[in-house]
Amino acid sequence: MITQTTDQSSSSEANRRAIPAGTPCFYCHQGLQGTVVLWWGQSADIYLHPECTVELSIRLLRDVHEIERSTHTNITGGPSSLLNPRATR
Ligand SMILES: [Zn+2]
Repeated sequence: MITQTTDQSSSSEANRRAIPAGTPCFYCHQGLQGTVVLWWGQSADIYLHPECTVELSIRLLRDVHEIERSTHTNITGGPSSLLNPRATR
């Protein structure tokens, strides 16, 4: 979900869980200002700069690939997966 910090949100955006400006980014810990990516889960909400969302996503996907390599499993099924038949020909 995309939201705004409260100093930049309109009343309609306040209903979209606007957050206080300066709330720390989950990834870089710098204060958030303006457009924010928000995800909420069972026990915590995550707020990110849009660019930090990209950085975190890359690293999360790298970790999944590492699981594939270390367990010889095919989680993603993509062409670079170790167990994909296309990669073994
Ligand atoms: Zn950040």
